[in-house]
Order: sequence, then structure tokens, then C-alpha cells
Amino acid sequence: MEWKAFLIKYAEIGTKGKNRILFEEALMNRIREVLEPVGAFTVSREAGRIFAEAEGSYDFDEAVAALRTVFGIAGICPMVVDEDDSWDHLVRMVCDYVDSRYPDKHKTFKVIARRAKKSYPIESMQINSDLGEQLLLRFPELKVDVHNPQISLHLEIRHRVYLYSEILPGPGGMPVGTNGKAMLLLSGGIDSPVAGYMVAKRGVLLEAVYFHAPPYTSERAKQKVLDLAGIVARYSGAIRLHIVNFTDIQLAIYEKCPHDELTIIMRRYMMKIAEHLAAENGCLALVTGESLGQVASQTIQSLAVTNEVCDMPVFRPCIGMDKQEIVDISEKIGTYETSIQPYEDCCTIFVAKHPVTKPNLRIIRRSESRLDDVIDGLMEQALSGVETVVCRGK
Ligand code: ATP
Ligand code: MG
Repeated sequence: MEWKAFLIKYAEIGTKGKNRILFEEALMNRIREVLEPVGAFTVSREAGRIFAEAEGSYDFDEAVAALRTVFGIAGICPMVVDEDDSWDHLVRMVCDYVDSRYPDKHKTFKVIARRAKKSYPIESMQINSDLGEQLLLRFPELKVDVHNPQISLHLEIRHRVYLYSEILPGPGGMPVGTNGKAMLLLSGGIDSPVAGYMVAKRGVLLEAVYFHAPPYTSERAKQKVLDLAGIVARYSGAIRLHIVNFTDIQLAIYEKCPHDELTIIMRRYMMKIAEHLAAENGCLALVTGESLGQVASQTIQSLAVTNEVCDMPVFRPCIGMDKQEIVDISEKIGTYETSIQPYEDCCTIFVAKHPVTKPNLRIIRRSESRLDDVIDGLMEQALSGVETVVCRGK
């Protein structure tokens, strides 16, 4: 028995009218994209349903794994497809399907036929009961249960005949691109790739920014961030990653500002630069991996002071999660192993032993004013040297 096609089920919440067409088109585009390396598929839409039909041979597990990365998919139904819709053939097709899929026949079942081809001479209800009868004749151990069957045999009669009985769970969410674009502050840690995944899951297209500080941070640390962007891109689609050289700004802060305020001041400049790049690239929000109380720079007071430099909304999807919950997601999406590689990011080198945990905005501003004569030039220099790399899913 061969799975020739997949029926793609999606949640329809918020997908009425014009939005629905956008939603379906974005979903179909993403499905085409992820199936491209798997094999030749025709992806089409028919009466509010999306089909991906194989044109030749392909690896089933690979196809399912690819579809499981597509946000917006609630369920994936592998289907057998046949050209012949004559009654005798239907009976044989359904019986053979049950025989090979369910070696143990001590099960309850129900047939759910859908006659999309209205010229088909038998009505759906009739198909259900006649096919049920044939199945019972062939496999007497089976039992009908119309309310809560163990096997739901879905038969769709269209220009061809489709048969399926299983729904593999998809990742849920909304197709990427249906909800605008945001700029992710991506470090080499565990949290920010998870934050990116969560926001992309809600249909948001991602760009990303990484601040590196050579020679204090290595090429390996940068490569790690590129790798992480590539893993998040499996789900979100290609990510444009902007790499900002942050060394001179960091050195200036280190030289002129109180050391217990280094992290918070640095975070403010990161946010400022990220917001600038976001606006320049059509992003409507920033995304960070911050989690309340996790470190000194993530207390409510610190977050308030960091946030103060931004006009754009800042999304922090990990804000209410424990570290273990974030780790669990990073393991599930495949970023964990890369995140824990031991390459320093720029924050860990310039951290003070006793950073402020309750920064006061007035005091931070006063400290920052010590940078007044250099900071504009340094910001301009950092922005003019941005390197942009397109990270594709891998
Ligand atoms: P992560 O695990 O994501 O690195 P973290 O717990 O190490 O987070 P911080 O280092 O305080 O936390 O950083 C908080 C957030 O700031 C990160 O989640 C990320 O969004 C952003 N960030 C920190 N460092 C960088 C960097 N070098 N480049 C880009 N963004 C960064
Ligand atoms: Mg970090």
C-alpha cells in the first residue's frame, strides 16, 4: 500500500474571507518549499482543503518530518489515491486498506464518505452503510461504532478517490508571513532561538540580529549563531541575519561607565540598534529570549530600563517560562545541542561580578551621558558595517 498524497488539516480560527485566502496561500507556499527537497509534489486547494499529492516516489518519513515543520498545519493525513471509482473497486480498495493497515481486526470502525463529485450515483450516507456492510462481511471481527470508533475510514470521492484513517499531529500555529515581520535578537544561548520559534509559530516572518565582539568573541561563536538561525529557519523559512560588530561600543561602555551597570547599558544599545535595523527592514516588532528573573538584566526593573529605549513592541515569548520549559522546547525543535556549545557570547565576557538588579533609569541615563561625545559615531560605524547573511533551513 502506498501513500500517494497527504490531506493537510489546518485550524480555521481567524481565517475567514480575504484572510482565509492569504492563510491558505501562505500555507501552500510553505508546504511546497519544505517538500521540494523530498520529491515532486503537486500542492493544491480544493473546497477548503489542501492536498499535497506525490508525482513519483519519495520517502514517507522524510515527507512527514518536513510537513511537521510547517506552522498552520494542525493535522497530516496520509492518503491512498485511486483513479477507479466503480463500486466493486471501491469495496476492494477499502477492504484491502483495512486489511493491511490493521492486522488486528478486533476494532470498532465507521465509514465517513464525502461525495465531492456530485455526479457520483450513490449518496454519501448510502456509501457509508454499504461499505460498512461489505467490511463486516469480509472481516467479521470488526464492529461498527458510529459515535466513538477506533478507526474512522474517510473516503473522498472527487475526480479521484482518496482514502485515509489517520491524522498525524502538525505543529499548529499560523503560516509564516500571515502576521507581519519581526526582528529577533539572536544570541548563541538557549532562549532566543526558542523565542524566535514561538513568534514564527504565530505567523510572523523573522529577521535576526546578532551582536558580536571580535576578538573577544570567536568566529566559532558567530558560526554557532548562524547554525542556530539555520535550525530556526527550518520552521520559519529563510532568516536574514544581520551581524553587527559591537566591540567598540562595548569597549567604550566598559571604559566610561560603572561596571555594575555594563550589562544594562549594553542591552539598551543592543535594543536601539536592533530597532533601527528593524525599522529599516520593515519589521514591526522586536523579539528577545528574556525570561523574568532569570538573570540580573531580566528583573522587572532591568527590563523596564531596557525597554525604555524602544518605541516598537518587544515580544518576549519566554517571559513566563522556567528554564526547564525553555530547554524542553529547544530540545523539541532541535536547537539545544547547538545552543550548549561552549562558545562565549559578548555578554558573558563583559559581565560584572555584581551587576545591578534594580537599575534606576535616571542613574543609568546619567552614566550613559559619559558616552555622549563618542556614541553617535560608534553607532553609525556599527550600522554601516552590518553584514547580512541569508540563513536557510537545514
Ligand atoms: P539566550 O539564551 O537567548 O542567550 P540569555 O539567558 O543568555 O539568553 P541574556 O544574555 O541576558 O540572556 O540576553 C537576553 C536576550 O538578549 C537574549 O535572549 C537575546 O534575545 C538578546 N541577546 C543577548 N545577547 C545577544 C547578542 N550577542 N546578540 C543578539 N542578541 C542578544
Ligand atoms: Mg545569552
